[in-house]
Amino acid sequence: MAELTDKQLTRYARQVILPEVDLEGQQRLLESSVLIVGAGGLGCPLAQYLAGAGVGRIRLADNDLVELSNLPRQVAFSESDIGRSKVEVLAGQLSRANGDTEIDLRVEKFDARSAGDMLSGVDLVIDATDSLQARLDIDSTTRRAGLPWIMGSAVRVAGQWVAFDAGRVYGCYHCLITEPAAADNAGCAQLGILGPVAGLVAMQQSVTAIRLLMGLTVRWGILHVADLWSGEYTAMSITKRLDCPLCLSTS
Ligand SMILES: [Zn+2]
Repeated sequence: MAELTDKQLTRYARQVILPEVDLEGQQRLLESSVLIVGAGGLGCPLAQYLAGAGVGRIRLADNDLVELSNLPRQVAFSESDIGRSKVEVLAGQLSRANGDTEIDLRVEKFDARSAGDMLSGVDLVIDATDSLQARLDIDSTTRRAGLPWIMGSAVRVAGQWVAFDAGRVYGCYHCLITEPAAADNAGCAQLGILGPVAGLVAMQQSVTAIRLLMGLTVRWGILHVADLWSGEYTAMSITKRLDCPLCLSTS
């Protein structure tokens, strides 16, 4: 692994001093590559913290434009960005913040068709969408590609997150849900969202991603649910469904 430069030693001093990270962990982060699907309420803080931590390459995918109603939780954007591409605004900000991080922006949606190109060369995928169909597509395509992914969702005053292992030994997203029913697929636009809830889910995903990108393991297949309004946190193991179409598939 490449030695850290003097500037990098200074920049990352506060995390390199942690025994959990150390020089080797920092070097691994600088050589890692992650795909963040979505540049909204989860994607903005995720990308900012992962670039801040020195993740070497961040691929950002989103085809949305910044809207006024995004600003309470999509903290990388300001009023002057309204109407501009989210990934372009976010990429500019990340590049100015940390030149160590190479930003690869994709102004397109993640789906089964675009997945092959999007997944190429990455170590990990992070879901920062608000779409069940996108999560099902991430689940199927990353399993075929042999990649782990971290799901995250934030609606109203509650959030959820799960880390799925590459081989889906501990179950998959399809074990939880196989088809996006219209009523269940309502996103923040219909249901509402309190900004800090998205931030909390993104931070949980960020720390999990940092562990994985440093080559450490995490607690796979645990569905974390946090109700931020009542302060209640729960966690449960996903039950691997015997009839799960993805777990049963061989390709
Ligand atoms: Zn499954």
